[in-house]
Amino acid sequence: MTISLDLSTVPMPRSTAPGKPSLVGLSKPEIAARLVEAGIAERDAKMRATQLWNWIYVNGVTDFDGMTNIQKGVRAQLGENFQLDRPEIVSEQVSSDGTRKWLFRYRDPQNPRLPPVEIETVYIPEEDRGTLCVSSQVGCTLTCSFCHTGTQRLVRNLTAGEILGQILMARERLGDFPGGVRPDDGGLVPGGESRAITNVVMMGMGEPLYNYDNVKQALLIASDEAGISLSKRRITLSTSGVVPQIEPTGREIGVMLAISLHAVRNDLRDMLVPINKKYPLEELLAACRNFPGLSNARRITFEYVMLKDINDSDADAKELVRLLANIPAKINLIPFNPWPGTNYDCSSSARIERFADIVNRAGYASPVRTPRGRDIFAACGQLKSETERLRKTERDALTA
Ligand code: SAH
Ligand code: SF4
Repeated sequence: MTISLDLSTVPMPRSTAPGKPSLVGLSKPEIAARLVEAGIAERDAKMRATQLWNWIYVNGVTDFDGMTNIQKGVRAQLGENFQLDRPEIVSEQVSSDGTRKWLFRYRDPQNPRLPPVEIETVYIPEEDRGTLCVSSQVGCTLTCSFCHTGTQRLVRNLTAGEILGQILMARERLGDFPGGVRPDDGGLVPGGESRAITNVVMMGMGEPLYNYDNVKQALLIASDEAGISLSKRRITLSTSGVVPQIEPTGREIGVMLAISLHAVRNDLRDMLVPINKKYPLEELLAACRNFPGLSNARRITFEYVMLKDINDSDADAKELVRLLANIPAKINLIPFNPWPGTNYDCSSSARIERFADIVNRAGYASPVRTPRGRDIFAACGQLKSETERLRKTERDALTA
């Protein structure tokens, strides 16, 4: 059973006048600086930035009028100069297994005349936790041959505010802000006192390390203790292997790392994950060995998609174990999720079990990732949107 919600019942974010800069996605000092530019007294700016931070990230307020500890005049001043908009929800689908997928739409922050872009965000609930799979780009520059997103050309990077907007909008819809109500529509939300969103994975559309600055800013804000306050240990960034950005990710962002490995030989990885031609396995694994903060308590997750007769032999499993020797690692086997037009098949369950067995016997935890939300195209590698890259002439005409 798949439920698509009637969006006429979905509270849409209040659309403040377009074109005003958003305060979502700015650091606290950046907010303070913008406030001063907008005429707020310099001596108050820091305190106001702290108040705004709490309203935006702890209370989920999207309207300056709701900020009751700020005087009316100042609220009006804020409303005239800024906005706190979130993405528009184009659709929200609930899978028979409780997984939820949104199609979100954003206007271009710099140029509202450009067509809006759309991205997907997925919520994967379990009994005692809920993981939000967040997108970093509209499309992807890379073309991993088994990935649906890889068939969509890169349209643009998401801003830090747009990345955070996915978390804020999901929290809103899941009733995760104070006073919020859990949805009652067939979707799952973890029980008890647990927050709906306990974990975030940068595993949606796009290559997060090709949008490093925005991803870094968004994740530092998401993990700020005075705000959304997600522990960095509960945030995982997945990369196809942008080697030069791996060390800064550990040092500057400090979140958990996942590597889309998928092959243990360069010739095969060149075909499956073409960025391998630029940064081959030896360089990738060296960067992993040097990942700041790496320890047995803080392991790197290696993702390995199970493709029938391509990368799933016993010899592949043994080579995988050999390659990862001396790297504190977890191995995550992902059954291939099909999409229209793909030439690949998923390995049989027996083959996946045998592969997992070899890896387990070598001492690695190797959970097989249960496909979630396949019926609504929400599983790993199935995300894509209709947004197309404009030709340069079209873009120039709209930005002139
Ligand atoms: N671009 C980043 C983040 C995406 S994460 C990266 O590649 O790491 C999504 C994960 O799902 C990646 O490990 C990706 O390789 C994997 N994946 C892509 N297509 C898939 C498919 N059809 N079936 C299963 N996993 C897939
Ligand atoms: Fe891009 Fe990751 Fe898909 Fe490769 S697997 S095409 S890097 S989104």
